[in-house]
Amino acid sequence: MSNNVVFFSGGISSALTALYVRKCIPGKLFLLFTDTLTEDEDLYRFIDESIDAIKPDGVTHITSGMNVWDVFYKAKYLGNSRVDPCSRILKREPAERWIKERYSTNNTTLFFGIHWSEIERLNAIKSNWKPYVVRSPMCEWESMPLAAGDIKSVWYNLTGVKIPRLYDMGFSHNNCGGFCCKAGKSHFKKLLEELLDRYRYHAEKEIQIRSVVGNRTILREQLNGVKYMLSLEEFAKRESTDNLPECTSCQCFEA
Ligand code: SF4
Repeated sequence: MSNNVVFFSGGISSALTALYVRKCIPGKLFLLFTDTLTEDEDLYRFIDESIDAIKPDGVTHITSGMNVWDVFYKAKYLGNSRVDPCSRILKREPAERWIKERYSTNNTTLFFGIHWSEIERLNAIKSNWKPYVVRSPMCEWESMPLAAGDIKSVWYNLTGVKIPRLYDMGFSHNNCGGFCCKAGKSHFKKLLEELLDRYRYHAEKEIQIRSVVGNRTILREQLNGVKYMLSLEEFAKRESTDNLPECTSCQCFEA
């Protein structure tokens, strides 16, 4: 019997991928959730209800006992758009250990919920997971030609499971409760508007960690060709938010 392992993040794309694998791809289905302990509370509701709908053969919930700020302290490094010790320590490394200890490359396929519009992400993941076979059904145009905007409605129509609340708030993903050290101004503006207490929590953590990492910030900005640090505290004080770039999806499993 072959094994199908889905990286089940609590996001809508990985949930729909798991449902597709359950219904359309022979083999045992296992879901792997790597918990950053920084997640939105509604993620756990979504995961529980999704598991009831998908009916996998097994579910594994991995936590390292640390949240993203614990990792930044441990690494003495504040994650940013280029280097993300949080996803390495809380997601990629535990997932790699768990899979390599249990699943042979001969009969195991790894599935990721990546949409065809971002297929370059899948190529990086395939390279990182060699020699395992890696697939993302949403990148296989013939089998699931979904528009990115249809994923939520397709999921809801098939399962009746309400999508995670962060999507309703306008977040592009359901990772780390709307926080991400790789995110830009647009993403943090959303966090500031929708989840003020959570924004304040992260802004305070960013202040506190300066005692360990020095004057580092998650956000940067460029003025007249010069890059400057921009703290979450300072960003929140600003009123002008014109022309911010779009949020991008979390890329935790790529590096
Ligand atoms: S979503 Fe962002 S903050 Fe959370 S683990 Fe991934 S890279 Fe780190």
